[in-house]
Amino acid sequence: MTAVGEANPCTYYNYVGGEWTKSAGGGLLESRNPATGEVVGYAQNSTVADVEEAIDAVYQAFQASDWGYNPKRRYEALLGLAQKMEENLEHLARVLTMEQGKTIRESRLELSGCIDTLKYFAGAARTVFGRSIQLEPHNFGVIVKEPIGVVGIISPWNWPALLMIRELAPALAAGNGVIVKPASLTPAISVEIFKLIDQVPHFAKGIVSIVTGPGKSIGAAMGTSKKIDMISFTGDTSTGKTIMEMATSNIKKLALELGGKSPNVVFPDANLDKAIPMIGRSIFISAGQICMAGSRLLVHESIKEEVLSRLQQYAEQLKVGNGIDETVDMGPLVSQSQLELVNEYCEIGRREGKIVTGGYRLTGGEYDKGYFFAPTIIDELPANCRVLKEEIFGPVLAVQTFASDEEALALANDSDFGLSAGVWTSDVNRAWRMSKGIKAGTVWVNTYNKNFPEAEFGGYKQSGLGRTRGIDGLMEYCETKHIHFETE
Ligand code: NAD
Repeated sequence: MTAVGEANPCTYYNYVGGEWTKSAGGGLLESRNPATGEVVGYAQNSTVADVEEAIDAVYQAFQASDWGYNPKRRYEALLGLAQKMEENLEHLARVLTMEQGKTIRESRLELSGCIDTLKYFAGAARTVFGRSIQLEPHNFGVIVKEPIGVVGIISPWNWPALLMIRELAPALAAGNGVIVKPASLTPAISVEIFKLIDQVPHFAKGIVSIVTGPGKSIGAAMGTSKKIDMISFTGDTSTGKTIMEMATSNIKKLALELGGKSPNVVFPDANLDKAIPMIGRSIFISAGQICMAGSRLLVHESIKEEVLSRLQQYAEQLKVGNGIDETVDMGPLVSQSQLELVNEYCEIGRREGKIVTGGYRLTGGEYDKGYFFAPTIIDELPANCRVLKEEIFGPVLAVQTFASDEEALALANDSDFGLSAGVWTSDVNRAWRMSKGIKAGTVWVNTYNKNFPEAEFGGYKQSGLGRTRGIDGLMEYCETKHIHFETE
Protein backbone atom coordinates (compact mmCIF):
# COMPACT_ATOMS: atom_id res chain seq x y z
CA MET A 1 0.00 0.00 0.00
CA THR A 2 1.43 3.45 -0.92
CA ALA A 3 2.34 5.40 2.18
CA VAL A 4 0.00 8.32 2.68
CA GLY A 5 1.21 11.48 0.96
CA GLU A 6 3.97 9.84 -1.09
CA ALA A 7 2.54 9.46 -4.58
CA ASN A 8 1.26 12.48 -6.47
CA PRO A 9 -1.69 12.67 -6.62
CA CYS A 10 -1.72 10.35 -3.63
CA THR A 11 -4.30 7.95 -2.37
CA TYR A 12 -5.44 8.55 1.18
CA TYR A 13 -6.61 5.76 3.44
CA ASN A 14 -8.81 5.63 6.49
CA TYR A 15 -7.02 5.39 9.83
CA VAL A 16 -8.79 2.83 12.01
CA GLY A 17 -7.48 0.95 15.05
CA GLY A 18 -4.11 2.65 14.55
CA GLU A 19 -3.74 1.17 11.01
CA TRP A 20 -4.16 2.58 7.48
CA THR A 21 -7.15 0.80 5.98
CA LYS A 22 -9.02 0.69 2.68
CA SER A 23 -12.79 1.02 2.53
CA ALA A 24 -14.48 -2.37 2.37
CA GLY A 25 -16.47 -1.03 -0.59
CA GLY A 26 -13.30 -0.27 -2.56
CA GLY A 27 -14.52 3.07 -3.94
CA LEU A 28 -12.52 6.30 -4.04
CA LEU A 29 -13.48 9.99 -3.77
CA GLU A 30 -11.66 12.44 -6.00
CA SER A 31 -10.42 15.65 -4.44
CA ARG A 32 -9.80 18.45 -6.98
CA ASN A 33 -8.06 21.81 -6.83
CA PRO A 34 -10.80 24.47 -7.20
CA ALA A 35 -8.31 26.86 -8.83
CA THR A 36 -7.12 24.53 -11.59
CA GLY A 37 -9.43 21.50 -11.71
CA GLU A 38 -6.45 19.18 -11.17
CA VAL A 39 -6.79 16.08 -9.00
CA VAL A 40 -5.10 16.62 -5.62
CA GLY A 41 -5.71 13.15 -4.25
CA TYR A 42 -8.02 10.20 -3.91
CA ALA A 43 -9.65 9.34 -0.59
CA GLN A 44 -11.66 6.35 0.56
CA ASN A 45 -15.34 6.51 -0.34
CA SER A 46 -16.21 4.72 2.87
CA THR A 47 -19.28 2.72 3.63
CA VAL A 48 -21.47 2.42 6.71
CA ALA A 49 -19.65 -0.86 7.51
CA ASP A 50 -16.31 1.06 7.59
CA VAL A 51 -17.79 3.55 10.04
CA GLU A 52 -19.13 0.81 12.28
CA GLU A 53 -15.73 -0.85 12.33
CA ALA A 54 -14.05 2.45 13.22
CA ILE A 55 -16.52 3.16 16.04
CA ASP A 56 -15.84 -0.30 17.49
CA ALA A 57 -12.08 0.24 17.23
CA VAL A 58 -12.28 3.56 19.07
CA TYR A 59 -14.51 2.01 21.75
CA GLN A 60 -12.07 -0.89 22.24
CA ALA A 61 -9.12 1.51 22.57
CA PHE A 62 -11.05 3.67 25.03
CA GLN A 63 -11.91 0.63 27.17
CA ALA A 64 -8.53 -1.09 26.97
CA SER A 65 -6.10 1.83 27.37
CA ASP A 66 -5.35 4.30 30.16
CA TRP A 67 -6.20 7.21 27.83
CA GLY A 68 -9.31 8.29 29.78
CA TYR A 69 -7.48 8.56 33.10
CA ASN A 70 -3.94 9.53 32.10
CA PRO A 71 -3.94 13.30 31.49
CA LYS A 72 -0.15 13.49 31.20
CA ARG A 73 -0.26 11.02 28.33
CA ARG A 74 -2.88 13.17 26.59
CA TYR A 75 -0.77 16.28 27.20
CA GLU A 76 2.26 14.58 25.62
CA ALA A 77 0.20 13.35 22.67
CA LEU A 78 -1.32 16.75 21.85
CA LEU A 79 2.02 18.53 22.25
CA GLY A 80 3.63 15.87 20.08
CA LEU A 81 1.09 16.52 17.33
CA ALA A 82 1.64 20.30 17.64
CA GLN A 83 5.36 19.74 17.16
CA LYS A 84 4.84 17.48 14.12
CA MET A 85 2.54 20.08 12.57
CA GLU A 86 5.14 22.79 13.15
CA GLU A 87 7.78 20.68 11.41
CA ASN A 88 5.46 20.01 8.45
CA LEU A 89 3.70 23.36 8.24
CA GLU A 90 4.80 24.30 4.74
CA HIS A 91 3.84 20.93 3.27
CA LEU A 92 0.44 21.02 4.99
CA ALA A 93 -0.13 24.62 3.83
CA ARG A 94 0.43 23.62 0.21
CA VAL A 95 -1.96 20.66 0.47
CA LEU A 96 -4.57 22.88 2.12
CA THR A 97 -4.33 25.57 -0.56
CA MET A 98 -4.35 23.07 -3.41
CA GLU A 99 -7.33 21.21 -2.05
CA GLN A 100 -9.47 24.02 -0.63
CA GLY A 101 -8.38 26.98 -2.78
CA LYS A 102 -7.60 29.46 -0.01
CA THR A 103 -4.48 31.59 -0.29
CA ILE A 104 -1.22 30.11 0.91
CA ARG A 105 -0.91 32.93 3.46
CA GLU A 106 -4.31 32.01 4.88
CA SER A 107 -3.36 28.32 4.94
CA ARG A 108 -0.32 29.14 7.07
CA LEU A 109 -2.56 31.16 9.37
CA GLU A 110 -5.04 28.30 9.66
CA LEU A 111 -2.31 25.78 10.46
CA SER A 112 -0.70 28.10 13.01
CA GLY A 113 -4.15 28.25 14.63
CA CYS A 114 -4.18 24.43 14.78
CA ILE A 115 -0.78 24.38 16.49
CA ASP A 116 -1.80 27.02 19.02
CA THR A 117 -5.04 25.14 19.76
CA LEU A 118 -3.19 21.85 20.29
CA LYS A 119 -0.73 23.50 22.69
CA TYR A 120 -3.51 25.18 24.67
CA PHE A 121 -5.54 21.98 25.05
CA ALA A 122 -2.41 19.94 25.79
CA GLY A 123 -2.00 22.07 28.93
CA ALA A 124 -5.75 22.10 29.59
CA ALA A 125 -5.77 18.27 29.63
CA ARG A 126 -4.03 18.58 33.01
CA THR A 127 -6.64 20.97 34.43
CA VAL A 128 -9.87 18.95 34.27
CA PHE A 129 -10.76 19.80 37.86
CA GLY A 130 -13.90 18.76 39.70
CA ARG A 131 -15.17 20.13 43.03
CA SER A 132 -15.98 18.79 46.48
CA ILE A 133 -18.57 19.88 49.02
CA GLN A 134 -19.62 18.93 52.53
CA LEU A 135 -23.37 18.41 52.30
CA GLU A 136 -24.35 17.20 55.78
CA PRO A 137 -22.42 15.92 58.80
CA HIS A 138 -20.41 12.90 57.53
CA ASN A 139 -21.66 13.46 53.97
CA PHE A 140 -19.35 14.63 51.20
CA GLY A 141 -20.10 15.19 47.58
CA VAL A 142 -17.25 14.86 45.10
CA ILE A 143 -18.13 16.27 41.70
CA VAL A 144 -15.86 14.73 39.08
CA LYS A 145 -15.46 15.46 35.39
CA GLU A 146 -15.13 12.35 33.23
CA PRO A 147 -14.71 11.67 29.52
CA ILE A 148 -18.00 10.99 27.76
CA GLY A 149 -16.74 7.96 25.80
CA VAL A 150 -16.78 7.84 22.00
CA VAL A 151 -17.14 11.24 20.29
CA GLY A 152 -17.90 11.67 16.59
CA ILE A 153 -16.57 14.82 14.92
CA ILE A 154 -18.12 15.88 11.59
CA SER A 155 -16.26 18.78 9.95
CA PRO A 156 -16.87 21.22 7.07
CA TRP A 157 -14.62 22.11 4.11
CA ASN A 158 -14.07 25.82 4.63
CA TRP A 159 -11.39 25.75 7.36
CA PRO A 160 -10.91 21.99 7.30
CA ALA A 161 -7.73 21.77 9.37
CA LEU A 162 -8.59 24.23 12.13
CA LEU A 163 -12.22 23.23 12.48
CA MET A 164 -11.23 19.58 12.86
CA ILE A 165 -8.46 20.39 15.38
CA ARG A 166 -10.65 22.92 17.20
CA GLU A 167 -12.89 19.98 18.24
CA LEU A 168 -10.39 17.12 18.19
CA ALA A 169 -8.02 18.81 20.66
CA PRO A 170 -10.55 19.39 23.48
CA ALA A 171 -12.30 16.05 22.84
CA LEU A 172 -8.98 14.21 23.25
CA ALA A 173 -7.79 16.48 26.07
CA ALA A 174 -10.91 15.51 28.04
CA GLY A 175 -9.98 11.83 27.61
CA ASN A 176 -12.45 10.68 24.96
CA GLY A 177 -11.92 8.37 22.01
CA VAL A 178 -12.74 10.09 18.70
CA ILE A 179 -13.87 9.23 15.20
CA VAL A 180 -13.57 12.04 12.62
CA LYS A 181 -15.45 12.42 9.35
CA PRO A 182 -14.07 15.32 7.30
CA ALA A 183 -16.00 17.03 4.49
CA SER A 184 -15.95 15.19 1.17
CA LEU A 185 -14.36 18.19 -0.56
CA THR A 186 -11.35 18.27 1.79
CA PRO A 187 -10.27 14.75 2.78
CA ALA A 188 -6.57 15.18 1.84
CA ILE A 189 -5.63 17.86 4.39
CA SER A 190 -7.52 16.00 7.12
CA VAL A 191 -5.78 12.68 6.45
CA GLU A 192 -2.40 14.46 6.15
CA ILE A 193 -2.87 15.55 9.77
CA PHE A 194 -3.73 11.97 10.77
CA LYS A 195 -0.51 10.88 9.12
CA LEU A 196 1.23 13.01 11.77
CA ILE A 197 -0.95 11.61 14.58
CA ASP A 198 0.31 8.18 13.50
CA GLN A 199 3.88 9.37 14.18
CA VAL A 200 3.21 10.44 17.79
CA PRO A 201 3.72 7.43 20.09
CA HIS A 202 1.78 8.89 23.04
CA PHE A 203 -1.62 8.42 21.36
CA ALA A 204 -3.20 5.18 22.59
CA LYS A 205 -3.39 2.86 19.58
CA GLY A 206 -6.83 3.16 17.98
CA ILE A 207 -8.06 6.00 20.24
CA VAL A 208 -8.61 8.26 17.23
CA SER A 209 -9.85 7.28 13.76
CA ILE A 210 -10.64 9.05 10.52
CA VAL A 211 -13.07 7.75 7.92
CA THR A 212 -13.66 9.71 4.70
CA GLY A 213 -16.84 9.69 2.64
CA PRO A 214 -20.22 11.32 2.03
CA GLY A 215 -22.14 12.98 4.84
CA LYS A 216 -25.50 11.63 3.74
CA SER A 217 -24.39 8.02 4.25
CA ILE A 218 -21.47 7.77 6.66
CA GLY A 219 -22.11 11.09 8.47
CA ALA A 220 -25.67 9.93 9.01
CA ALA A 221 -24.41 6.54 10.25
CA MET A 222 -22.44 8.44 12.91
CA GLY A 223 -25.43 10.63 13.77
CA THR A 224 -27.70 7.64 14.34
CA SER A 225 -25.18 5.21 15.87
CA LYS A 226 -26.05 4.13 19.41
CA LYS A 227 -22.37 3.47 20.07
CA ILE A 228 -21.40 7.14 19.69
CA ASP A 229 -22.01 9.13 22.88
CA MET A 230 -21.58 12.63 21.48
CA ILE A 231 -21.51 14.33 18.09
CA SER A 232 -19.60 17.53 17.54
CA PHE A 233 -20.80 18.98 14.26
CA THR A 234 -19.60 22.07 12.40
CA GLY A 235 -21.46 22.95 9.24
CA ASP A 236 -24.64 24.27 7.73
CA THR A 237 -27.60 25.05 10.01
CA SER A 238 -29.94 22.81 8.01
CA THR A 239 -27.55 19.84 8.37
CA GLY A 240 -27.26 20.69 12.08
CA LYS A 241 -31.03 20.33 12.41
CA THR A 242 -30.87 16.90 10.74
CA ILE A 243 -28.10 15.86 13.13
CA MET A 244 -30.29 16.93 16.08
CA GLU A 245 -33.03 14.62 14.88
CA MET A 246 -30.57 11.75 14.41
CA ALA A 247 -29.17 12.25 17.90
CA THR A 248 -32.49 11.22 19.42
CA SER A 249 -31.54 7.58 18.65
CA ASN A 250 -29.64 7.38 21.95
CA ILE A 251 -30.01 10.94 23.32
CA LYS A 252 -26.48 11.81 22.27
CA LYS A 253 -24.80 14.89 23.61
CA LEU A 254 -24.46 17.49 20.87
CA ALA A 255 -22.16 20.40 20.13
CA LEU A 256 -23.28 22.33 17.06
CA GLU A 257 -21.28 25.11 15.37
CA LEU A 258 -23.49 26.37 12.55
CA GLY A 259 -23.99 29.21 10.11
CA GLY A 260 -23.97 32.98 10.46
CA LYS A 261 -24.99 36.29 8.91
CA SER A 262 -22.84 38.60 10.97
CA PRO A 263 -23.10 42.40 10.92
CA ASN A 264 -20.39 45.04 11.10
CA VAL A 265 -22.04 48.11 12.63
CA VAL A 266 -20.27 51.36 11.75
CA PHE A 267 -21.03 54.56 13.66
CA PRO A 268 -20.05 58.11 12.58
CA ASP A 269 -17.34 58.29 15.28
CA ALA A 270 -15.55 55.15 14.01
CA ASN A 271 -11.90 55.21 12.97
CA LEU A 272 -12.52 54.45 9.29
CA ASP A 273 -8.83 54.06 8.45
CA LYS A 274 -8.83 50.99 10.70
CA ALA A 275 -12.40 49.88 10.02
CA ILE A 276 -12.42 49.79 6.21
CA PRO A 277 -9.66 47.21 5.63
CA MET A 278 -10.87 45.05 8.52
CA ILE A 279 -14.48 45.07 7.33
CA GLY A 280 -13.28 44.29 3.82
CA ARG A 281 -11.14 41.45 5.10
CA SER A 282 -13.99 40.14 7.26
CA ILE A 283 -16.09 39.38 4.17
CA PHE A 284 -13.47 38.64 1.51
CA ILE A 285 -11.14 36.36 3.55
CA SER A 286 -11.65 32.75 2.39
CA ALA A 287 -13.69 34.24 -0.49
CA GLY A 288 -16.44 34.79 2.10
CA GLN A 289 -16.61 31.06 2.88
CA ILE A 290 -16.28 31.52 6.61
CA CYS A 291 -18.97 31.15 9.25
CA MET A 292 -18.17 34.46 10.97
CA ALA A 293 -17.89 36.44 7.71
CA GLY A 294 -18.95 40.05 8.23
CA SER A 295 -21.55 39.59 5.51
CA ARG A 296 -23.82 42.46 6.55
CA LEU A 297 -22.64 46.07 6.70
CA LEU A 298 -24.82 48.35 8.84
CA VAL A 299 -23.63 51.91 8.33
CA HIS A 300 -24.86 55.23 9.74
CA GLU A 301 -26.55 57.26 7.00
CA SER A 302 -24.24 60.26 7.55
CA ILE A 303 -21.11 58.32 6.53
CA LYS A 304 -22.61 55.85 4.10
CA GLU A 305 -21.25 57.44 0.94
CA GLU A 306 -17.67 57.59 2.24
CA VAL A 307 -17.72 54.06 3.72
CA LEU A 308 -19.20 52.52 0.58
CA SER A 309 -16.80 54.24 -1.77
CA ARG A 310 -13.78 53.21 0.33
CA LEU A 311 -15.03 49.61 0.60
CA GLN A 312 -15.58 49.53 -3.15
CA GLN A 313 -11.97 50.66 -3.65
CA TYR A 314 -10.83 47.97 -1.19
CA ALA A 315 -12.78 45.25 -3.04
CA GLU A 316 -11.60 46.31 -6.48
CA GLN A 317 -7.89 46.33 -5.61
CA LEU A 318 -7.95 42.72 -4.30
CA LYS A 319 -5.97 40.33 -6.46
CA VAL A 320 -8.09 37.25 -7.13
CA GLY A 321 -6.34 34.13 -8.40
CA ASN A 322 -4.75 30.78 -7.64
CA GLY A 323 -4.04 30.86 -3.90
CA ILE A 324 -0.68 29.15 -4.33
CA ASP A 325 0.65 32.48 -5.70
CA GLU A 326 2.03 34.39 -2.69
CA THR A 327 0.72 37.71 -4.03
CA VAL A 328 -2.93 36.62 -4.38
CA ASP A 329 -5.44 38.07 -1.87
CA MET A 330 -8.49 35.92 -2.61
CA GLY A 331 -8.72 32.40 -4.03
CA PRO A 332 -11.59 30.65 -5.82
CA LEU A 333 -14.85 29.33 -4.40
CA VAL A 334 -14.56 25.72 -3.36
CA SER A 335 -16.75 24.07 -6.02
CA GLN A 336 -18.97 24.53 -9.03
CA SER A 337 -22.09 24.23 -6.87
CA GLN A 338 -20.83 26.92 -4.48
CA LEU A 339 -20.15 29.15 -7.49
CA GLU A 340 -23.67 28.62 -8.80
CA LEU A 341 -25.16 29.35 -5.38
CA VAL A 342 -23.25 32.62 -4.99
CA ASN A 343 -24.21 33.63 -8.52
CA GLU A 344 -27.88 32.97 -7.76
CA TYR A 345 -27.77 35.31 -4.76
CA CYS A 346 -26.10 37.98 -6.90
CA GLU A 347 -28.90 37.65 -9.46
CA ILE A 348 -31.42 38.28 -6.68
CA GLY A 349 -29.30 41.27 -5.60
CA ARG A 350 -29.25 42.61 -9.16
CA ARG A 351 -33.04 42.27 -9.46
CA GLU A 352 -34.01 43.62 -6.05
CA GLY A 353 -31.14 45.98 -5.20
CA LYS A 354 -28.08 47.64 -6.67
CA ILE A 355 -24.72 45.96 -7.32
CA VAL A 356 -22.04 48.41 -6.18
CA THR A 357 -19.19 46.25 -7.41
CA GLY A 358 -18.64 42.65 -8.57
CA GLY A 359 -21.59 40.27 -8.86
CA TYR A 360 -20.09 38.03 -11.55
CA ARG A 361 -17.84 35.03 -12.16
CA LEU A 362 -14.33 35.96 -13.27
CA THR A 363 -13.45 34.53 -16.68
CA GLY A 364 -10.64 34.49 -19.21
CA GLY A 365 -7.20 32.83 -19.12
CA GLU A 366 -6.44 30.92 -15.91
CA TYR A 367 -9.79 32.00 -14.44
CA ASP A 368 -11.59 29.61 -16.79
CA LYS A 369 -10.07 26.60 -15.05
CA GLY A 370 -11.45 27.45 -11.60
CA TYR A 371 -14.38 28.86 -9.66
CA PHE A 372 -13.32 32.50 -9.30
CA PHE A 373 -15.82 35.17 -8.29
CA ALA A 374 -15.42 38.94 -8.06
CA PRO A 375 -15.57 40.55 -4.58
CA THR A 376 -19.12 41.87 -4.45
CA ILE A 377 -21.02 44.63 -2.63
CA ILE A 378 -24.81 44.96 -2.90
CA ASP A 379 -26.83 47.95 -1.67
CA GLU A 380 -30.45 49.17 -1.62
CA LEU A 381 -31.97 45.78 -0.84
CA PRO A 382 -35.54 45.50 0.48
CA ALA A 383 -35.70 44.56 4.17
CA ASN A 384 -36.79 40.95 3.63
CA CYS A 385 -34.52 40.21 0.68
CA ARG A 386 -32.87 36.75 0.84
CA VAL A 387 -29.49 38.39 0.27
CA LEU A 388 -29.89 40.10 3.65
CA LYS A 389 -31.40 37.13 5.46
CA GLU A 390 -29.60 33.98 4.27
CA GLU A 391 -26.03 32.86 4.64
CA ILE A 392 -24.47 33.11 1.17
CA PHE A 393 -21.03 31.69 1.99
CA GLY A 394 -19.35 33.71 -0.73
CA PRO A 395 -17.63 37.11 -1.17
CA VAL A 396 -20.86 39.11 -1.04
CA LEU A 397 -21.37 42.06 1.30
CA ALA A 398 -24.97 43.28 1.80
CA VAL A 399 -25.38 46.92 2.92
CA GLN A 400 -28.04 48.50 5.14
CA THR A 401 -28.29 52.02 6.57
CA PHE A 402 -29.42 53.23 10.01
CA ALA A 403 -30.22 56.61 11.54
CA SER A 404 -30.03 55.91 15.31
CA ASP A 405 -28.36 53.55 17.79
CA GLU A 406 -31.73 51.88 18.45
CA GLU A 407 -32.23 51.21 14.75
CA ALA A 408 -28.67 49.86 14.44
CA LEU A 409 -29.30 47.38 17.28
CA ALA A 410 -32.66 46.32 15.87
CA LEU A 411 -31.12 45.67 12.43
CA ALA A 412 -28.13 43.81 13.92
CA ASN A 413 -30.52 41.46 15.74
CA ASP A 414 -32.92 41.07 12.81
CA SER A 415 -31.51 37.67 11.87
CA ASP A 416 -32.10 33.98 12.57
CA PHE A 417 -28.36 33.72 13.20
CA GLY A 418 -26.27 35.00 16.11
CA LEU A 419 -22.68 33.94 15.62
CA SER A 420 -20.66 37.17 15.73
CA ALA A 421 -20.69 40.93 15.15
CA GLY A 422 -18.35 43.90 14.84
CA VAL A 423 -19.02 47.29 16.43
CA TRP A 424 -17.04 50.31 15.20
CA THR A 425 -17.16 53.41 17.42
CA SER A 426 -14.88 55.51 19.61
CA ASP A 427 -17.60 55.96 22.27
CA VAL A 428 -17.03 53.37 24.99
CA ASN A 429 -20.58 53.65 26.35
CA ARG A 430 -22.09 53.07 22.94
CA ALA A 431 -19.70 50.14 22.38
CA TRP A 432 -20.78 48.56 25.66
CA ARG A 433 -24.52 49.10 25.01
CA MET A 434 -24.23 47.54 21.56
CA SER A 435 -22.08 44.64 22.76
CA LYS A 436 -24.58 43.79 25.49
CA GLY A 437 -27.56 44.26 23.17
CA ILE A 438 -26.39 42.19 20.21
CA LYS A 439 -27.49 38.55 20.41
CA ALA A 440 -24.30 36.87 19.23
CA GLY A 441 -21.70 34.55 20.73
CA THR A 442 -18.83 36.94 19.91
CA VAL A 443 -18.87 40.73 19.60
CA TRP A 444 -15.66 42.40 18.43
CA VAL A 445 -15.26 46.10 19.23
CA ASN A 446 -13.08 48.05 16.78
CA THR A 447 -11.67 44.83 15.38
CA TYR A 448 -12.90 41.63 13.73
CA ASN A 449 -12.01 37.94 13.32
CA LYS A 450 -9.86 37.77 16.43
CA ASN A 451 -10.02 34.20 17.75
CA PHE A 452 -8.01 32.49 20.46
CA PRO A 453 -8.12 28.92 21.76
CA GLU A 454 -8.65 30.27 25.30
CA ALA A 455 -11.71 32.43 24.41
CA GLU A 456 -15.10 30.74 23.96
CA PHE A 457 -16.77 30.85 20.56
CA GLY A 458 -20.23 29.75 19.44
CA GLY A 459 -23.69 30.76 18.42
CA TYR A 460 -26.85 32.32 19.78
CA LYS A 461 -30.09 31.41 18.00
CA GLN A 462 -29.66 29.17 14.92
CA SER A 463 -25.88 29.58 14.86
CA GLY A 464 -25.37 26.68 17.20
CA LEU A 465 -25.53 24.90 20.50
CA GLY A 466 -22.80 24.91 23.13
CA ARG A 467 -19.42 26.59 23.00
CA THR A 468 -16.14 25.65 21.43
CA ARG A 469 -12.69 26.85 22.63
CA GLY A 470 -11.76 27.86 26.17
CA ILE A 471 -12.66 26.06 29.38
CA ASP A 472 -16.35 25.86 28.39
CA GLY A 473 -15.21 24.23 25.15
CA LEU A 474 -13.29 21.59 27.12
CA MET A 475 -16.23 20.99 29.46
CA GLU A 476 -18.53 20.28 26.48
CA TYR A 477 -16.54 17.03 26.11
CA CYS A 478 -16.93 15.99 29.77
CA GLU A 479 -19.65 14.25 31.75
CA THR A 480 -20.28 15.39 35.32
CA LYS A 481 -20.61 12.79 38.08
CA HIS A 482 -21.56 13.25 41.72
CA ILE A 483 -19.87 10.65 43.95
CA HIS A 484 -21.34 10.75 47.43
CA PHE A 485 -19.52 9.60 50.57
CA GLU A 486 -21.18 8.98 53.92
CA THR A 487 -18.38 8.38 56.35
CA GLU A 488 -20.15 7.13 59.47
P1 NAD B 1 -22.41 20.92 5.49
O1 NAD B 1 -23.44 20.97 6.57
O2 NAD B 1 -22.85 20.70 4.11
O3 NAD B 1 -21.35 19.75 5.80
C1 NAD B 1 -20.64 19.68 7.01
C2 NAD B 1 -20.28 18.23 7.28
O4 NAD B 1 -21.48 17.49 7.49
C3 NAD B 1 -19.55 17.54 6.13
O5 NAD B 1 -18.58 16.68 6.65
C4 NAD B 1 -20.67 16.78 5.45
O6 NAD B 1 -20.20 15.65 4.73
C5 NAD B 1 -21.51 16.36 6.65
N1 NAD B 1 -22.91 16.05 6.34
C6 NAD B 1 -23.66 16.51 5.31
N2 NAD B 1 -24.90 15.97 5.37
C7 NAD B 1 -24.92 15.17 6.47
C8 NAD B 1 -25.92 14.33 7.05
N3 NAD B 1 -27.15 14.24 6.53
N4 NAD B 1 -25.60 13.65 8.17
C9 NAD B 1 -24.38 13.76 8.72
N5 NAD B 1 -23.39 14.51 8.19
C10 NAD B 1 -23.66 15.21 7.08
O7 NAD B 1 -21.55 22.26 5.65
P2 NAD B 1 -20.35 22.74 4.72
O8 NAD B 1 -20.96 23.20 3.43
O9 NAD B 1 -19.27 21.74 4.70
O10 NAD B 1 -19.81 24.00 5.54
C11 NAD B 1 -20.34 25.27 5.42
C12 NAD B 1 -21.26 25.59 6.59
O11 NAD B 1 -20.56 25.41 7.82
C13 NAD B 1 -21.71 27.03 6.62
O12 NAD B 1 -23.06 27.09 6.97
C14 NAD B 1 -20.85 27.65 7.72
O13 NAD B 1 -21.40 28.81 8.31
C15 NAD B 1 -20.75 26.53 8.68
N6 NAD B 1 -19.59 26.71 9.56
C16 NAD B 1 -19.77 27.03 10.87
C17 NAD B 1 -18.68 27.26 11.71
C18 NAD B 1 -18.83 27.64 13.16
O14 NAD B 1 -17.85 27.57 13.91
N7 NAD B 1 -20.02 28.04 13.60
C19 NAD B 1 -17.40 27.13 11.18
C20 NAD B 1 -17.26 26.81 9.83
C21 NAD B 1 -18.36 26.58 9.02
